[in-house]
Amino acid sequence: MEDTIAAISTPIGEGGIAIIRVSGPRAFDLADKLFHPSRGRPSEFPSHTIHFGTAGTNGEVVDQVMLTVMRAPRTYTKEDTVEINCHGGILTARKLLSLCLQNGVRLAEPGEFTKRAFLNGRIDLTQAEAVMDLIRARTDRAHTLAVHELEGHLSAKVNDLRERLITMLAHIEAHIDFPEEDIAPNTRDSLLRDMQTALALLQSLLATAREGKILREGITTAIVGRPNVGKSSLFNALLGQDRSIVTPVPGTTRDTVEELANIHGVPFRLIDTAGIRHARGRIETIGVRRTRNALEHSEFVLHILDTSRPFSHADHEIATHCTNKRAILVLNKADLPRRLRLPTEFTDYEAIPLSATTGEGLPDLRQKLAQLAFSGAAGSSETAVAINERHRLSLSSAYNLLTLCANSMTNADPIEVVSQQLRLALDAIGEVTGKTVTDDILERVFSTFCIGK
Ligand code: GDP
Repeated sequence: MEDTIAAISTPIGEGGIAIIRVSGPRAFDLADKLFHPSRGRPSEFPSHTIHFGTAGTNGEVVDQVMLTVMRAPRTYTKEDTVEINCHGGILTARKLLSLCLQNGVRLAEPGEFTKRAFLNGRIDLTQAEAVMDLIRARTDRAHTLAVHELEGHLSAKVNDLRERLITMLAHIEAHIDFPEEDIAPNTRDSLLRDMQTALALLQSLLATAREGKILREGITTAIVGRPNVGKSSLFNALLGQDRSIVTPVPGTTRDTVEELANIHGVPFRLIDTAGIRHARGRIETIGVRRTRNALEHSEFVLHILDTSRPFSHADHEIATHCTNKRAILVLNKADLPRRLRLPTEFTDYEAIPLSATTGEGLPDLRQKLAQLAFSGAAGSSETAVAINERHRLSLSSAYNLLTLCANSMTNADPIEVVSQQLRLALDAIGEVTGKTVTDDILERVFSTFCIGK
């Protein structure tokens, strides 16, 4: 790696400290220029030590800082690295960063430190992705998953698969070199069995895709219902318990409020469509349009009914838009005398009586949501790994190629055909950990990273 990169690795804003990270061959030269300790020079400091001094150039002091010196290869990037811990706030870190940039260091791209860790062979691609999963985790389960991935649990499974395919390929290719010899029937059978085993392993990894998607992205759940049934009350009640670890998610629709709720370790992106109430004129039309919009982006729907009032035409209308979604009827205001009678066509729906104000019945709803999230399948236990969408695409393609390969084997197709399919399957598996990787894949993975990571 030729150039040296720098970035502010902490969020911009008021805080105790901010960290500027610098990595690359010129990191120590730069530190010698910018950092002024009471004694010595950064380039002469022992590795993995931290030092107090001032930072600035030409006699101007920008801040009093702590400088961490870490020499290659025992660093995050495997390159020479220095980290400047300065005071938090908006200006100090920016000033120090611009001094770095004026002194022959360039601004790091998003995820570039981690990309270097990958390119320099310290971590594989699943571990690089795990870094971002860890940063983004919003529930304990998502966090555990990311840690497992960072520790290489997924890599181990994928590498085991690769090894199996490589062994098969070695057997098969030995026959290409000796075309006069046919593959003996028992060798063929044993290769086929190995392929079936590999297919089963691929299948079990692919089966974790849904859990992976849920834990990484959350399940988008729309809260719909006519005005005043208690949508906002329920939204707040569901968020309430874990409010401290809930963060606002920038909504895609301006008409609605979206927040992430942690329900039994499963992240739910709740969309409150209560904005409907504020529409002036043509309320029904606008309401239905907004509800429809929110519904379009959701996987689950909580259709709220007010049990203290009779079922209305508007309730019916909303229900017709929920038909192709996983809908739960929430029979709210259960603390009031009941006047609602459900029409017969709703008797098949999952219905949960509760009171958003007293909290009665709320645990049942949480339980139901968490249960529905994984449809009783994977996810009930602490799964060690759960693949992401990128992994799913590569592993599905490996699965299809290996299936073709097994068919060719059964049909006694030319051995070159079998070997070619196996090679392609191997490449597809290699994409997961980055053993076989294109610039395009790297670009896609690291473009989702934050600056300074
Ligand atoms: P939205 O228009 O559907 O978002 O409804 P809100 O959440 O704003 O609630 C409308 C009114 O119903 C408010 O006065 C709430 O306090 C009240 N409300 C909501 N949930 C309950 C409930 O479970 N029991 C009772 N008694 N009142 C409720």
